[in-house]
Amino acid sequence: MKVRVSFNCPETQLNLGGIVLIRGNDFEHVPELPEVQQAIDRGYLDVLKEEKKEVKKEKKQGEEVWVFAEQRNNKIARVVLELLGKAQELAEKLSVKTAAILLTDKDIGLSQELINHGADKVYTAENPLLKNYQTDLYTKAISEQIRAAKPQIVIYGATHIGRDLAPRIAQRINTGLTADCTGLDITEDGLLLQTRPAFGGNLMAQILCKKHRPQMSTVRPGVMKMKEPSKRQGEIIKVKSNISEKDQRVRILEIIKEAKKRVNLEEAEIIVSGGRGLGKKENFRLIEELAKLLKAEIGASRAAVDSGWIAKDHQVGQTGKTVRPKLYLAVGISGAIQHKAGMQNSDLIIAINKDPDAPIFQVADYGIVDDLFKVVPEIINELKQ
Ligand code: FAD
Repeated sequence: MKVRVSFNCPETQLNLGGIVLIRGNDFEHVPELPEVQQAIDRGYLDVLKEEKKEVKKEKKQGEEVWVFAEQRNNKIARVVLELLGKAQELAEKLSVKTAAILLTDKDIGLSQELINHGADKVYTAENPLLKNYQTDLYTKAISEQIRAAKPQIVIYGATHIGRDLAPRIAQRINTGLTADCTGLDITEDGLLLQTRPAFGGNLMAQILCKKHRPQMSTVRPGVMKMKEPSKRQGEIIKVKSNISEKDQRVRILEIIKEAKKRVNLEEAEIIVSGGRGLGKKENFRLIEELAKLLKAEIGASRAAVDSGWIAKDHQVGQTGKTVRPKLYLAVGISGAIQHKAGMQNSDLIIAINKDPDAPIFQVADYGIVDDLFKVVPEIINELKQ
């Protein structure tokens, strides 16, 4: 250890086992002798505290946590970036690396984007046949990579593509799949703890996949919070995919985009949602007007959708969309568990309901207990001014 003579010491020098220490000199190495310990106990010596060396947890090779990097027109789906943050957390707990698996015709900076969002590695398969999603080709290409690299966890976005792809891969490589998870964590035994609503959302089921690998889940867009990207370094591993036109049972001749405006609830910053409290279809106009003034997207409860007041792609909740806007305004919505499942992670929730006991107030940051036909026109008038 390193010591020096303390100013509390009555002597100007100390002889410790033949080593002479002079007060005022810097720290010196001394053997751990009984007289040294005695001098320390008396307060005659200051001991230099050795800086603890940071023991960096080395990440294990293999057994990685993977995210399927869904891309369309060479644009990574937002859900992938959300999932990378979660995958990083899981990988950290397991001391393994986070990786993304990317299939594309040409990697134009997508791998680096994935690294910046948390991937330590990106397995990139480039092939003209992988330009657009095709069930047979993607299933084969990813199953092959999973067999080769043996990740312990693979997560997919519960998008149209993810929902089509993940079960096929699960079947192909003989493992399980938990769909629409709302929570992912690691148990004490290092297993993936998959939480998802069950029995109509009345209970949360926790699911483990103990005997088969990898453990696989899908997660809906908007459920996990996207972490801010940062400039990171990672490994880009170019992999070969053994696919050919023979594997294609379907050929894409042309992609025609749907003409109607897509409802983009998952990425909306403000959502105004209407429920059965509006009474009839014509009254939904109030929601539309308010949404327009707030530059918001329109959401709805299932009751409003089932009544035919608005299209299904506006539905928020367990069987609709999961949203996470900065502001969620719930108008005439009771707050059934299935509705809350889709919106309770919003940053700020304001509810308007005439029933003070409506469950929506349990998750609302602000509640207005009054008749919506009085409150909403007043807000509209205020905003117009
Ligand atoms: P209600 O529950 O009827 O509530 C209407 C509210 O409006 C009441 O609280 C009332 O006090 C208030 N109100 C009435 N008049 C006024 C007024 N003048 N001013 C102010 N307030 C007023 N639901 C979803 O939303 N999304 C889902 O994804 C979904 N998935 C489901 C999946 C399953 C398997 C099941 C079984 C159900 C699902 N549901 C879902 C349905 C859900 O259980 C509820 O039935 C539904 O959310 C109720 O919609 P609501 O709140 O608009 O209607």
